[in-house]
Amino acid sequence: MGEWLLIDGRHVQRVGTGEAPQADRIVELPGTSILPGFIDTHVHLTGTGIHHASPELSRARSAADVVAVVRKLAGEGDEPFLIHGYDESKWPDTRLPTVEELDGATRRPLLVIRVDGHASLANTVALEATGAAEEPGMERDDAGAPTGFITREANNRVRRWFNRHLSDHDIQQHQLRAAALAASRGVTCVHEMSMPSERDLRDLEVLLGHRARLPVDVVTYVASTDIPQVMDLRFGQIGGDLAIDGSIGARTACLSRPYTDGEGNGAAYYPDDELAEFLHNAHLAGLQAGVHAIGDGAIEQLLSVWERVYRALDSRERRHFRARRHRVEHFEMPSPQQIEKAAMLGLAVSIQPCFDAEWGHPGGLYDVRLGWDRASGMNPFRSLLDRGIEVGVGSDSPITDLDPMAAIEALENHHDPAQRVWRGEAIRLATVGSARLAHQEDKKGSLEPGKHADFAAYESDPLTAGSVVGLRPILTVSLGREVYAS
Ligand SMILES: [Zn+2]
Repeated sequence: MGEWLLIDGRHVQRVGTGEAPQADRIVELPGTSILPGFIDTHVHLTGTGIHHASPELSRARSAADVVAVVRKLAGEGDEPFLIHGYDESKWPDTRLPTVEELDGATRRPLLVIRVDGHASLANTVALEATGAAEEPGMERDDAGAPTGFITREANNRVRRWFNRHLSDHDIQQHQLRAAALAASRGVTCVHEMSMPSERDLRDLEVLLGHRARLPVDVVTYVASTDIPQVMDLRFGQIGGDLAIDGSIGARTACLSRPYTDGEGNGAAYYPDDELAEFLHNAHLAGLQAGVHAIGDGAIEQLLSVWERVYRALDSRERRHFRARRHRVEHFEMPSPQQIEKAAMLGLAVSIQPCFDAEWGHPGGLYDVRLGWDRASGMNPFRSLLDRGIEVGVGSDSPITDLDPMAAIEALENHHDPAQRVWRGEAIRLATVGSARLAHQEDKKGSLEPGKHADFAAYESDPLTAGSVVGLRPILTVSLGREVYAS
């Protein structure tokens, strides 16, 4: 802790107390508290920009509201219209709009994406234009007609088609809007979870083209199993949000026992052998591999596959295994035995505390889908920490708000008091912990000589404020640049 910070270009040169040293420029911030910049370990930049371009949908509370939002925003024309963020689990009546209602709302090809991205609603024009009706995941009524509700391949196919209609300029603008939002929230670095299955590789290429000009630093994970492609991009990491199952909300998370309020156990997207081959080759290629796993079935599959990969390594490779910090995104439903296995393997977990705040409490979505006997044990953050697992904090924006204060609030108010994380530790997880998930702890996560000049200044101290909800910085600096000032 210090009273002044001396910045040299992109880096912190010195931190100290008392008399400040000579400098070319002095910025006085009396009475403020300076924290290292927050690092969000799980962000979809383009999706965040799209969400914030029309935030009305997340406020919809009924099927009629959704139809009204579409009618208002879509207007005339025949260009594809894409909007993100409905969450029927928050509605008094969870009935979704029918395809007829969507057809009546606009003549444009329409895609309305569920908050978690794992399900969408499409109108008839969109279903016909994209050929989605032929894909698995197209829900049909008793007469066999599409209802407009799509998951899995059908959902990905429609999303890809819509994203292809965005120009490079549109994508840049969405990414810039998202990065500026991050800066305004005291975030100085995000781990971008690129999703070629939904947006093609172009989305990532556009990002790499202007990454250096964005207000926040970006670490890029690409949800691909194409190791040579990722090596060509000179990334040290692969996968990230590579989904081996879906989400609880869309009932596509892979469970060991069926959903309480629907049929089946969800979906496992990869056979064991294929997943093992990918993880093994990624490890041997020197890459950090990341995978999205939510349900207890998916977590079991992932852990047993990692164990298999580990056993196949020779002793020299085994020594380096833990240090690689292979990642799991979400990791929402681990049993105590699975936590133990993850700890043994040295896996690092990217948690989304706001998932618990949004859906984890009694009567919430997870309770409805799974029953409280299963939902009550979800997102056991404290257990992960107690077992020594590396933990970083992400929003999965646009799924939840790109706001580290909301994550801290969620950590402090976990539905299970035994799993709560106190303020200072929560801030540490969202800075140092998150940096460690990308092997950047020697550059980011704390303010020390030689590290990146990434920080934010607050008028009330986030460490001691009564509540951090809505607390915003007055100044954010990323890589020595002033990227936000209120
Ligand atoms: Zn994910």
